[in-house]
Amino acid sequence: MADTFDLIVLGAGSGGLATAFRAARHGARVALLEPGAMGGTCVNVGCVPKKALWFAAQLAQQQQLALHYGFASTPGPLDWEHFRQLRQTYIDGIRQRYARRLAEAGIQVYAETGRFVAADTVATSGGDELRAMQIVIATGGRPGRLEVPGFDLGMVSDDIFALRTLPQRIAIVGGGYIAVEFAGLLRALGSEVSMHVRRGLLADFDAEAVAALKEHMQAQGIVITQGVKVAGLHRDDGGLVLHDEVHGESGPYDAVLWALGRVPNSDRLDLDAAGVQVDEAGHVVIDAWQNSNVPGICAVGDISGRAELTPLAVAAGRRLADRLFGGQPGSRLDDEYTPTVVFAEPPLGMAGLTEAQALELHGDQVRVYRSRFAPLQWAVAGHAGQSLMKIVCVGDDERVVGIHALGPGAEEILQGFAVALKMGLRKRDLDNTIAIHPSSAEELVLLS
Ligand code: NDP
Repeated sequence: MADTFDLIVLGAGSGGLATAFRAARHGARVALLEPGAMGGTCVNVGCVPKKALWFAAQLAQQQQLALHYGFASTPGPLDWEHFRQLRQTYIDGIRQRYARRLAEAGIQVYAETGRFVAADTVATSGGDELRAMQIVIATGGRPGRLEVPGFDLGMVSDDIFALRTLPQRIAIVGGGYIAVEFAGLLRALGSEVSMHVRRGLLADFDAEAVAALKEHMQAQGIVITQGVKVAGLHRDDGGLVLHDEVHGESGPYDAVLWALGRVPNSDRLDLDAAGVQVDEAGHVVIDAWQNSNVPGICAVGDISGRAELTPLAVAAGRRLADRLFGGQPGSRLDDEYTPTVVFAEPPLGMAGLTEAQALELHGDQVRVYRSRFAPLQWAVAGHAGQSLMKIVCVGDDERVVGIHALGPGAEEILQGFAVALKMGLRKRDLDNTIAIHPSSAEELVLLS
């Protein structure tokens, strides 16, 4: 006999947990299956440990800046193992809080994998059979691999948090979020970093902002090789050697990080048993309401092939639970103008359209305003680097459709501006706003 629930959620990452908690709050009987650590990628091997490392990198940079400000000396390098333990303790705390909240919410947790045996039935690896009218797939993704010799000599992003020491010489293959973030933070912490990039950095970000970020990265000593075609990796006496069909061999390195995008965890779910359609990459195909092609089966988060961002997964899960169990039939994710930040050195954020996207959509209706300036905290120390603030406007009333911020504080500045964007921000609204002076954020209300 199958145990019956109102909702079965597969996966307790950001999207799955958000769905389960919200549904339970609406009174649904929820089963949640997660064979790994509560919190999924974001909490365990993604946003949270990465941001902790980024903070450590910021402190390292502030220490350098402090010398220029007149402080006598900088402390030594980061005690990597001490910091790793601090970070792990923090993450353990998050997991414990999840476990407590799940129990309080009455959510039935199975520390097991699940696979479909029918459109309304999931078999767990522990031998249980669970049935529900609604099933939400939130199994996320995992780092992608390259089929090249020696791939396993390198690391993927999951592995980097387990390192016991800072790699002195590291090669990073890829030019996306993870590659750029780790290049910046490892460099700030003292690694020699070389990036091996196929096309360019951060293809989905504004090209001008990316070019400005690249200048910073190169000034920091990060070596960026573009146009690579990686053919393999081997170890010799000196360390790891990377083969690139275009540029030849490079190295030796102490570590190689593959940051090649992610693949969805849909292959072990027996989706065929339920008739759920997936795309070529394996993402569950969904409509604007998170519905798959099978009634009663939905998907949220990275498994659904939308932008792989925790806040989108959380918002999608909550809206879906509100719609299914909260009597809110119109509730669904609205991802227009989603803000996102690459925690690079310095951070780069965007909300809305890039200049190129706006031009493609709106042609000569587009007007761009930008400011390049030396942030005060750097300028005082004689640091030559510049920030960039940029807005992309459309039409006679200059509706703002894109905001881009590169520089110290960008990761915090952008959230408030993203609210304004969502509310229909016009350039004149920025002009009518009094600046906070001196600040970097004020540049966005002083653009002319
Ligand atoms: P991204 O999709 O950001 O970037 C993938 C990179 O891998 C691209 O530069 C791509 O190059 C490159 N690549 C793919 N195949 C090859 C190859 N054969 N040889 C060389 N390069 C290759 O993926 P990430 O892994 O960096 O991150 C995964 C996702 O996680 C991100 O898309 C993002 O959504 C999320 N994330 C979000 C963060 C945040 O919000 N701050 C932080 C980290 C991750 P090309 O452009 O040539 O295809």
